[in-house]
Amino acid sequence: MKAIYLLKRRGAPIGDATMDFLHGRPFNVGEAPYCPACGRPMGMLSWEPPLRAELETWGKRFGDMAFGPGGDILISERFKDLWLKSGLVGLEGFEPVEIVKVVRRGKRFKEPPPAYFRVVAQRSQAAFDVVSSGVQWLEPPSPRCDVCRVGGNAKGWERIVLEEEPKENIFTVRGLGAWVLVDEHFKRFVEEHGLSNCPLVPAEEAAHWF
Ligand SMILES: [Zn+2]
Repeated sequence: MKAIYLLKRRGAPIGDATMDFLHGRPFNVGEAPYCPACGRPMGMLSWEPPLRAELETWGKRFGDMAFGPGGDILISERFKDLWLKSGLVGLEGFEPVEIVKVVRRGKRFKEPPPAYFRVVAQRSQAAFDVVSSGVQWLEPPSPRCDVCRVGGNAKGWERIVLEEEPKENIFTVRGLGAWVLVDEHFKRFVEEHGLSNCPLVPAEEAAHWF
């Protein structure tokens, strides 16, 4: 199987271009996606245009990715143009985002932000392997829906192992909510182009405890 990495969305600042975003208020929301088999919501309400965002920078420059609440990701125009030529798959959206405010929590650098676009990682058919990942449950899902794998209350997991190889290069998987994973081709893409604020953790080291 190809190497898989967790895209570590938020947490301690990494590098000099760490950046988050918040939805600019007021904002519009749409429906959550529902499981066609059991009818449970499989994610958060969608963020609908017009898209306005407030950026928070923690370093000394703007990043090529920014992470916010929900599953949305902002990418810079440079990231978008390189991605669309790369042949890689797994991102959808690419709607322009109006930046309404910038809060510089690190260095007070002067440059204006580049253009940003909203993307969402596609839902893969691949599923989170709860046994091989060492999941511990406060309350296991009962019954477990085999299509969406939503439910239960996990204490956390030792690592991230998937049941099958995902076709996408960036994706979410059944049973792991909004956690975004990428593969080795995505990792090479961000390294080759020097794209910033794309913190990746090898899946076998991606332990998480709530
Ligand atoms: Zn379901």
